[in-house]
Amino acid sequence: MTEETMSKLLKGKPQAEQILLEASQRLEKLKEKGIYPCLTTVEVGSDPASRYYLENQRRTAERVGIKYESRQLPDNITREKMLDVIDDINRDPGIHGLIINLPLPGHLKVCEMQWHINSMKDVEGVTPQNLGKMLLGAEGLKPCTALAIIELIKSTGVDIRGQEVTVIGRSSIVGKPVSLLLLAESATVTICHSFTSKAGHLEAHVKKADILVAALGVPEFIKGEWIKDNAIVIDAGINSVNGKMVGDVEFEAAALRAGFITPVPGGVGPVTTALLMKNTVDAVYMQLSRI
Ligand code: NAP
Repeated sequence: MTEETMSKLLKGKPQAEQILLEASQRLEKLKEKGIYPCLTTVEVGSDPASRYYLENQRRTAERVGIKYESRQLPDNITREKMLDVIDDINRDPGIHGLIINLPLPGHLKVCEMQWHINSMKDVEGVTPQNLGKMLLGAEGLKPCTALAIIELIKSTGVDIRGQEVTVIGRSSIVGKPVSLLLLAESATVTICHSFTSKAGHLEAHVKKADILVAALGVPEFIKGEWIKDNAIVIDAGINSVNGKMVGDVEFEAAALRAGFITPVPGGVGPVTTALLMKNTVDAVYMQLSRI
């Protein structure tokens, strides 16, 4: 990496450390009241690709003082049993946050399981209640990656209002929520997806973006030469290519044109994990005040 590229790097670690520091200060106040927050992950079967991600969550949670509990369920668990497990956790006053790890085996519908989570324990912001609140601009638990992208953009000091933002990806966990949050920040948001590409329009939408958010999950699909001069490039993509982790943007070439660019790994990822801890602390406070 050249010195010039290094100076444009928008690393996630400083933001993540600040978020974790604030979370641990709020945790101390809870502990003084005898409340010990607990985050539970339910994993059905065993997905080797999730291991690194889950271990990272555990390390971060334990570092800030959140109890992290992982429940391993067999991959032949029935729909009814799985809903019972979620019900038990929903009712357990000692558990404050619940994550259903993906992927789930085919006989379990992701939406049905995630939508069964008590919305006040929904630290990933996946339930219709929390997504609906976000749409309406109300307080609630929001998807961590979308929040992380906003944090990183704000850390550049740019005034988001009126900026041309292109978001690539329209999933319910990244693309759509980040688009809503950017709209709430008064950006002009264009949302692209696979049909934008098929129609041959993706390049034009990338070229006009003052801020580009890539969340499509296709390695280095966004070409460096498409990036507008001095644009802020936030790459949420996590792709494994020949054992190496790469983003959705052609990093080296994009860095030549960008004003700021997030590395992969080390950009959006650490901020997302830190915000999961913040969401867990927020969830505890919400449960105490029963918002
Ligand atoms: P997803 O559910 O697979 O959604 C991908 C989106 O990208 C879809 O909307 C799809 O369009 C669009 N897309 C796919 N190929 C495209 C193309 N060639 N041109 C334009 N759009 C295209 O993925 P996701 O869950 O949102 O995740 C996206 C990426 O972010 C993945 O790499 C994932 O690993 C990463 N991620 C990172 C974090 C983090 O913490 N850093 C967290 C979550 C996800 P259609 O809707 O038309 O199919």
